Amino acid sequence: MEKIANYIDGQFRAPVAGKYLDNINPSIGEVYSLIPDSDGDDVQLAVEAATRAFEGWSSLLPDKRFAVLARIADLIDRDADALALAESIDQGKPVKLAKSMDIFRAGANIRFYATGAMHFSAEAHATGVEAVNYTLRSPVGVAGCISPWNLPLYLFTWKIAPALAAGCTVVAKPSELTPMTAYLFTKLCQEAGLPQGVLNVVHGLGPKVGQAIIDHPGIPAISFTGGTVTGKKITTTAGPMLKKLSLELGGKNPNIIFADADFDQAVATSISSSFTNQGEICLCGSRILIERPLYEKFVKAFVAKTKELVIGDPLNEATRIGALVSEAHMNKVLSYIDLATKEGGTILTGGKRVTVSGRCAKGFFVEPTVVTGLPANCRTNQEEIFGPVVTLAPFDREEEALAMANGTSYGLSATLWTSDLTRAHRISSQLKCGIVWVNCWLYRDLRTPFGGTKGSGVGREGGWEAMRFFTEAKNVCIRL
Ligand code: NAD
Repeated sequence: MEKIANYIDGQFRAPVAGKYLDNINPSIGEVYSLIPDSDGDDVQLAVEAATRAFEGWSSLLPDKRFAVLARIADLIDRDADALALAESIDQGKPVKLAKSMDIFRAGANIRFYATGAMHFSAEAHATGVEAVNYTLRSPVGVAGCISPWNLPLYLFTWKIAPALAAGCTVVAKPSELTPMTAYLFTKLCQEAGLPQGVLNVVHGLGPKVGQAIIDHPGIPAISFTGGTVTGKKITTTAGPMLKKLSLELGGKNPNIIFADADFDQAVATSISSSFTNQGEICLCGSRILIERPLYEKFVKAFVAKTKELVIGDPLNEATRIGALVSEAHMNKVLSYIDLATKEGGTILTGGKRVTVSGRCAKGFFVEPTVVTGLPANCRTNQEEIFGPVVTLAPFDREEEALAMANGTSYGLSATLWTSDLTRAHRISSQLKCGIVWVNCWLYRDLRTPFGGTKGSGVGREGGWEAMRFFTEAKNVCIRL
């Protein structure tokens, strides 16, 4: 059985303690490879390698950093099919989606920040005729990057690319549930000639490897994407150590549909924003709020389209809904469906585990599920489920929709459907979240700030700003 290796100091290495964890393919429910069960000793080796490599990498001219990162992006494009297959097997998502979204965007992340190395600049301020101030921005040192399982290579590269482009060296940990594409990525880094020690990847469990990265005094900046509970835990260690922290956390995103919306587009895109990647995208809209005159018509059309979604083997081109990432996560999602019923909800379609025939018979599949009749303040409407479960509710007034939309502890994204331009601007400005999509969903321009407010995170960055996070600024003031 294939053994995934850590990548430390440019070498593929077994974990120091020699222990491994099972890596399960969630669409067949069977172990298909082994993951290093690394610990603090492996993190220590990685930090030492990253520290040694820092001087060389941080002082490399930007065009040289650009060249090696751009080569890595080209290699991702070259191996897109193999990476998509690996991601689909590791995570359960349809292979078609893995290629068009995760792998395509992983390449885009690396390419964008490769050019960032060339374009990054600092500011100068003339203080009248008396003085001039300029800012020096230097890479902060070894960066710790920790990523989740839902968009494995996409989010892994989203964490490491701005750090590397800014001149930091990196110790990274992908999710233990989906380590394969990060492993394959390190092979591409080696092939592209990334100098040894610049990127170090340590595989293993969050409380062991992740915590050792957070705890390590040689890592002054942490960029984390994952759940809000883990994010809060990280702050309790990293906060008192005064580390720089960027936290991209969970969401409970509203999707608000006014009666004047383009109906067909609103229904079709809401199906995508609810169920793409089995609903395991932090930006999925899980609470659909519909203006009363449209409510019955929307519910009917939405349920009909949900029933058409093909659930099945992620390797089939026609599959729209693959497997959930793990048995534990499937059970969590099913327990929320149970909770929705106990809270008085009506399940209009879905609600059950699916047994897919053939090789996927033991996979972790759940039907896309539509629930109505729940109050805005119940747990089903307040807590992140992170699966193919969506609630639908009517509203009468704009203020009521806004109150429901803003009425959770999260603030990641929102989607808004209306043909009234003024209303679109007015509501967008009042939604308490990091991103609002108007009449669309999931469009992404890497120059824009990304992230959430409230329980969805801190340290929103985008474009070259994300590189700034990995630097420390020094102002120089010269009296004229
Ligand atoms: P998670 O918090 O369980 O794990 C995320 C990563 O943190 C994993 O690599 C895990 O091993 C590691 N980890 C766990 N405990 C740790 C600890 N004590 N110290 C350091 N690292 C630790 O999250 P998950 O289940 O992998 O991912 C799903 C969550 O991620 C959802 O809440 C989702 O909304 C969120 N997410 C947010 C965004 C965003 O951009 N805001 C994007 C994707 C996913």
